[in-house]
Amino acid sequence: MATDGRTKRSQSICAPASASMEALAAPMETTPAPRRRPATRSQSARITGGRSVRHRRQQQQQQLDRETRARYSSEPRLAEAETPPQVRRQASARRRPPAGQHSQPRRSNAFLDVPRTTHQQPEEEPDEDSYRLRTFNITQKGGIVNRGDSFRRRRSRSGSLAPSSPAQSAPESQERRPVACHRVAMVGAPGVGKTALISQFQTSECINAYDRQRDIDSSEQKVSIMLNGEESELYFVNCTSTKEEIDRSEPPDAFVVIYSVVDKASFQKAEQELARLIDFDMLRARPALLVGNKIDLARSRAVSTQDGKCLACTYKAKFIEVSVGINHNVDELLVGILNQIRLKRQQYSADGGRESSPAHWYKSRGVVRASMKARQMLTWIFGKEDSKFKNCENLHVL
Ligand code: GDP
Ligand code: MG
Repeated sequence: MATDGRTKRSQSICAPASASMEALAAPMETTPAPRRRPATRSQSARITGGRSVRHRRQQQQQQLDRETRARYSSEPRLAEAETPPQVRRQASARRRPPAGQHSQPRRSNAFLDVPRTTHQQPEEEPDEDSYRLRTFNITQKGGIVNRGDSFRRRRSRSGSLAPSSPAQSAPESQERRPVACHRVAMVGAPGVGKTALISQFQTSECINAYDRQRDIDSSEQKVSIMLNGEESELYFVNCTSTKEEIDRSEPPDAFVVIYSVVDKASFQKAEQELARLIDFDMLRARPALLVGNKIDLARSRAVSTQDGKCLACTYKAKFIEVSVGINHNVDELLVGILNQIRLKRQQYSADGGRESSPAHWYKSRGVVRASMKARQMLTWIFGKEDSKFKNCENLHVL
């Protein structure tokens, strides 16, 4: 029964097929082809028919031209789709990076590039022999002009790869002057943004402070700066506490004490650190800068600008508020650090190696703090900023 059923089913499947094949085959031989399809085809053929051969020849010629152009010229192409696949393969083979380097996906020129992040930094710094040089000028009114970053060869500092900059126009003798190196301690409570700040110092591009790599705490970070035609290197040392981490026999050249304006405890910690630095007698020959970070978080602010200034003036430090998150005042701080180091050194050498401030200036700290609080009150009452408070914000004077 089952076999019969199967046979029947197979017959029922096959029979109409063969029948239809015959039915299909038969009319092809005997009856003329149905008119509709060929008519459409012949119509389209009629439309293009007149120029189809010419058109094909033109296309072949165009392709040949494109191939020749791709081989013998370095003209940039806008759309990848225009390039024939075999030519594209040749081009990419030509541009393939040497072994050991990552092959990056090819960028199309048809769109604007997304700003690069720190993750792509190795691509920007092609070899170990070159370093990034940040160039700034200070205007007569005390403003800062960022002249951009350039790459230079490490071995010969005179062999500049930089675009036209003060460095390039400087005479050769000035170029070959030894580069001054300074160590800068970045002091502050955990989470105030020390690491993010050091990362932002490295480049003029805005890094994403909220989404950056967190693996650079351990090492010193170097930033090369050309300021008013003179090159210097700053080595930033990340340091949570000056008590354990500062070598008093070989102290750094400057101290940057950071707090977060949204974290009152970090402000208190900053005060402790400044007090300790004065107790260690570190600040008479070295500059200190008090930095309030995260001012982008205005609604969560817990430390006022006036409190920051008052603290800075009490400890004879310079004061600036920044936001690494939105790259606000970061260049000003970087240039300010270098400027303060240079000014302090100049003063030191002008005084014949003597430290300028009298030894007792910091001893009456309580009196100084009370006088600063009084000044702060007067500023608040009369609405006019005290000259001392104004001065502590000017990073271009001592
Ligand atoms: P560190 O412990 O002092 O080195 O602080 P980090 O650099 O690791 O930063 C701590 C956190 O603060 C990170 O999540 C940063 O993304 C964030 N941060 C740093 N600077 C800013 C800023 O200016 N604004 C805001 N909103 N967050 C920041
Ligand atoms: Mg850190």
